[in-house]
Amino acid sequence: MRAQPKGSHFINGRFVEDENGVVFTSIFPATGETIAKLTSATSSTVDRAVLTAKQAQPAWAAMPPVERGRILRRAADIIRERNRELSELETLDTGKPIQETLVADAASGADSLEFFGGLAASINGQMIELGGAFAYTRREPLGVCAGIGAWNYPIQIACWKVAPALAAGNTMVFKPSEVTPLTALKLAEILQEAGLPDGVFNVVQGFGDTGAALTTHADVDKISLTGSVPTGKRVMASAAEGLKHVTLELGGKSPLVIFEDADLDNAVSAAMNGNFYSSGQICSNGTRVFVQHNVLEDFLSRLKERTEAITLGDPMDPETQMGPMVTNDHADKVLTYLDKGKSAGARLVTGGGRTKVEGCDRARFIQPTVFADVTDEMVIARQEIFGPVMSVLTFDTEEEVLARANDTEFGLAAGVFTRDLARAHRFAGQLEAGTIWINNYNLTPVEMPFGGVKNSGIGRENGLAAIGFYTQEKSIYVETGDVESSY
Ligand code: NDP
Repeated sequence: MRAQPKGSHFINGRFVEDENGVVFTSIFPATGETIAKLTSATSSTVDRAVLTAKQAQPAWAAMPPVERGRILRRAADIIRERNRELSELETLDTGKPIQETLVADAASGADSLEFFGGLAASINGQMIELGGAFAYTRREPLGVCAGIGAWNYPIQIACWKVAPALAAGNTMVFKPSEVTPLTALKLAEILQEAGLPDGVFNVVQGFGDTGAALTTHADVDKISLTGSVPTGKRVMASAAEGLKHVTLELGGKSPLVIFEDADLDNAVSAAMNGNFYSSGQICSNGTRVFVQHNVLEDFLSRLKERTEAITLGDPMDPETQMGPMVTNDHADKVLTYLDKGKSAGARLVTGGGRTKVEGCDRARFIQPTVFADVTDEMVIARQEIFGPVMSVLTFDTEEEVLARANDTEFGLAAGVFTRDLARAHRFAGQLEAGTIWINNYNLTPVEMPFGGVKNSGIGRENGLAAIGFYTQEKSIYVETGDVESSY
């Protein structure tokens, strides 16, 4: 097995196994090849990981913040040095094309470690003048954080959670998706090589029950989940039992609104990036593309031509622009949505089914698909598909499209294309979403907070905002005069 890790779990600086865990495999989606065999963590292994994180936390929090930050920045440097190896592993685990993973996955993780490493020494409270007294506040870590990840951006998700958590003096137990278990273990090794003390970052593998063992654990103080809305609701309900802090990065059905004055080639580029990157397996994708009537057919013809030029292939081939779906089960789910689109009467502009790639016979490749004439109530316009399926809708007025764009249970992201500055900002201000792009789509620089509203989540990752979700504020009142007695 060409990607077998030294062990399934990483606890207290060592790889360990759980003999009572369930054996599961990691599969290269393009060929069906088993690349690693691991065991899931039973509750006793979860206990061990949480206890280790709890014991390591006071010393980690007491370390001068500039030193904590230096370790994270060193880890960022090592990730960049080993980017090719990490990218190949991520491609093997997820099936995403190597031309994507080389620039988007570990690289984004390194940015996160660098950003929060640099920030660690500036996490401060404030001083408050009270007249004859004063108060100051301290930003203190929460304690032990549990990170739980989805399978679409495994190392990025791990880094986006571990970097702010550790910068603020917390420790972490991270559970990757069992579909993509490998790069979190590499991250643990890299952090250790960068000088991270044992026990500060731990990895446990497993299924939903391992995640649930973390969310219900009495010694876990905060849970940060990236996953689907149903899992988010379950995690929040179990966190409520212990009044734990939560950050939830969940799904979406985001609108991308293209006005007739937009630069149409840029709008097509953004719609393609926001629907086909990572085979459409991205939470913030702009899967409801609203195009103003006058430019609809022009938009569709440019989109069709460029979509049909996308190269599907072996994800390890540097020429490949789109790989297979992460698992066959997930591909089958996406295919059912293609049927639903067709039977609801949507106009199939291009794609619409499976396609074969030579040498990857066991993989499920889905053609990049565009439906036009989609209406608001169609299932393909309401539910998250998480595949390369774009729904194009049309509109007449700004007022109308705003109401329709906001008519969804989700609120992760949204985009607007227009050359009218006033309209762009007015519209962005009224869209109900956590992240809005004007004249671009799906860029998530680490400096900018990212997260959802409505059913798309709670809390923010990235940016200065993330620190607020990994710390709690303590107020300290200081008397400089006498105590005024009431008695
Ligand atoms: P899931 O919600 O199925 O799983 C997410 C993680 O939670 C997995 O590690 C899963 O383990 C674990 N889990 C499952 N049940 C529980 C439970 N009861 N308690 C604790 N943990 C549990 O999501 P997917 O992995 O299928 O990822 C796709 C989803 O993630 C999409 O909806 C997508 O929109 C969302 N997502 C959101 C992002 C964001 O930033 N907003 C980014 C990327 C994806 P296991 O895998 O073993 O089931």
